Amino acid sequence: MPDTTAPDAVPDHVPDHLPDVAPVTARPTHAGPLATAQEQLAGAIGRLGYDAGMHAMLATPRREINVAIPLRRDDGSTELFHGFRVQHNVSRGPGKGGLRYHPAVDVDEVRALAMWMTWKCAVVELPYGGAKGGVAIDPRNYSQPELERVTRRYTSEIMPMIGPERDIMAPDIGTDAQTMAWVMDTYSVNKGYTIPGVVTGKPLEVGGSLGRATATSRGVVHSTRAALREAGLDLPDVSVAIQGFGKVGSHAADFYSDAGSRVEAVSDQYGGVYRSGGLDVPRLLTHVRTTGSVVGFEGGDPIGNEELLGLDVDVLVPAAVEGVLTHDNAGDVKARWVVEGANGPTTARADAILADRGVVVVPDILANAGGVVVSYFEWVQAQQAYWWTEAEIELRLEERMLHAYAGVAEVARRESLPMRDAALMLSVQRVAVAHRTRGLYP
Ligand code: NAD
Repeated sequence: MPDTTAPDAVPDHVPDHLPDVAPVTARPTHAGPLATAQEQLAGAIGRLGYDAGMHAMLATPRREINVAIPLRRDDGSTELFHGFRVQHNVSRGPGKGGLRYHPAVDVDEVRALAMWMTWKCAVVELPYGGAKGGVAIDPRNYSQPELERVTRRYTSEIMPMIGPERDIMAPDIGTDAQTMAWVMDTYSVNKGYTIPGVVTGKPLEVGGSLGRATATSRGVVHSTRAALREAGLDLPDVSVAIQGFGKVGSHAADFYSDAGSRVEAVSDQYGGVYRSGGLDVPRLLTHVRTTGSVVGFEGGDPIGNEELLGLDVDVLVPAAVEGVLTHDNAGDVKARWVVEGANGPTTARADAILADRGVVVVPDILANAGGVVVSYFEWVQAQQAYWWTEAEIELRLEERMLHAYAGVAEVARRESLPMRDAALMLSVQRVAVAHRTRGLYP
């Protein structure tokens, strides 16, 4: 049952002719994502008045595994990669979180991402904990058969930790539905029967869910609409800039444009394009499908990633990597709303600067939760072997997102807090209550 209504976004296979520009592969050099995540947690613990023991429990991953992945390359040589899987917390249910293939992946980044998954699942009230995985590899430099071998070896190394009741993977940067099919197949072959619930974000043909591929982006747009409503505005009233044109950014551009917003700038790791008054997004998507990048799109002028963040637009959507809004550039942000499609795009110091300047940040753990919400729907469908229609999924997604947004906005108003602090307070409290209710064993 192909998802014929999903707009095509990034190509499945990287075209031969990528732009002749060195891609950005390193993360910025300021305090890493784990420092940001820990600082956010410390803030929430302080506000909630929890003791040092609870803080230590919530600050420390429950389990983690570090694996070496040897790859036999197509030319017969061998290369070694490092991979990780971290389960930050499993008190509310199985670990849930993506698998990232990126050269800058390290265990601290995975720990931060796993922690954010715990809070995200709690914000949208899913019966999950938080987990994340990563392999330090640049997938663009390897063939599909090579990526399949890396994925299967990684999966078999972390087998004891994963499963539909233990820890459920999904795509993230550098991985896609095909990667999930390989994970599911490797796991299932080893167990002796088909177990679709071990991953979400898999192809429809092997038990994926309608609407999953676009869910994160739909959620980003739902939460933008909710934020705008608080100011008496709607999507057709605003201009948008999006950093990152992958699975999240490209579909978000499509949905914003469909809803009447002016998408004035987009970028990827090779560069960006800008057009005052709005880009022609369908034409841009076609350009990206054929060239592999937004660079070179004739319907706009070139723009750098840094410049995009400071553009005079209403809504800024970071949808690439973490740590792009820092104390160095937060003062340059002109947008009134920052809606975080990416995980951890704003450092703690940048957050404080944005809050002082009255910029509303709709935080990652709320804004991009649409992906994990429909992942949850996919997992439920797989467990029941009964599939829902796309209309049902989209309706339930919208309800969940708006309900979660309203819950966070209510705490923000009551406590006079920025949305991120409110979302963290709510989610950390939910996880802490689960800890306390379960008690300590032994
Ligand atoms: P992707 O690999 O499909 O796309 C990433 C995009 O970011 C690409 O366009 C890439 O060129 C660009 N990029 C990479 N490094 C960059 C840099 N240094 N500067 C500018 N652009 C850069 O990944 P994705 O799935 O779209 O994920 C993007 C972000 O959204 C990540 O932070 C991810 O954790 C988060 N996220 C993804 C999902 C999901 O469902 N895919 C869900 C929630 C959160």
